[in-house]
Amino acid sequence: MIIDSHLHFGQIRKFNMPQEMLLKSLERYNIDFGIVSNIEGCEFDSKMEFILEKQLSQMRVNVKTLDLVKRYLNKLKGQFWIKPYTESFTKEVAEFMLENKDYFVGFKMHPYHSNMKISDERCKEYLEFANKHGFSFAVHTAGDNNSDPYHVYQVAKEYPNINFIMVHMGLGTDNSKAIELITKLDNLYGDATWVNFDRVVEAIKKCGSDKILFGTDAPIDGIDTYQKYEDIMRSKGILTEEEYNNLFELNAKRIFRLD
Ligand SMILES: [Zn+2]
Repeated sequence: MIIDSHLHFGQIRKFNMPQEMLLKSLERYNIDFGIVSNIEGCEFDSKMEFILEKQLSQMRVNVKTLDLVKRYLNKLKGQFWIKPYTESFTKEVAEFMLENKDYFVGFKMHPYHSNMKISDERCKEYLEFANKHGFSFAVHTAGDNNSDPYHVYQVAKEYPNINFIMVHMGLGTDNSKAIELITKLDNLYGDATWVNFDRVVEAIKKCGSDKILFGTDAPIDGIDTYQKYEDIMRSKGILTEEEYNNLFELNAKRIFRLD
């Protein structure tokens, strides 16, 4: 079984990932299940400019995810994309998550597109809620200051009931800092999204195969985004059976409580 822990849909600025494209991509590459979030929650664009025109409300962004997930119950679960710059944690968010905990595995935070560190005061209430209710937190990590993996490590120390996933394990870096930090805490994980296969192998060796998840950002480069992940998807035989099963299936099931 293959579970992709990091999928998207939605349209904002140069990104265009219609729901149909996502579903076709999963089908074409035999992905059995995935965790999805709506990129329309971006508050800043790729040039770090505030998106002035028609930002959807935080609730609207995630109601769209709920609608999608409900239509494909045997294929998808959602992550609630938070908008801590323009909005905040509210009673409505709390009620929505508790009501829909069968459809959402946790939260997604993007420090670049929200122009904020995960350790920022404005993320605190989301984190406290997730910690109380055992929701996971997927956080984009990269070489820029806001997205530095170290900030995820800091909050992971503070909130032991949250499983944190360092998405990309430091995009645009050699991943060594993220890998080092993942070894230090039980509730800190890494994913393979945009990570070279040799670095994924390195992460598995250093952190343990129970700490690294398969993820792709599909369908960010279109229906055939998975072609970029050819190496890792053909790693049966290169990885041990245990490593392979953990990476593609068992870690996601455990961390996201999928059964
Ligand atoms: Zn992503």
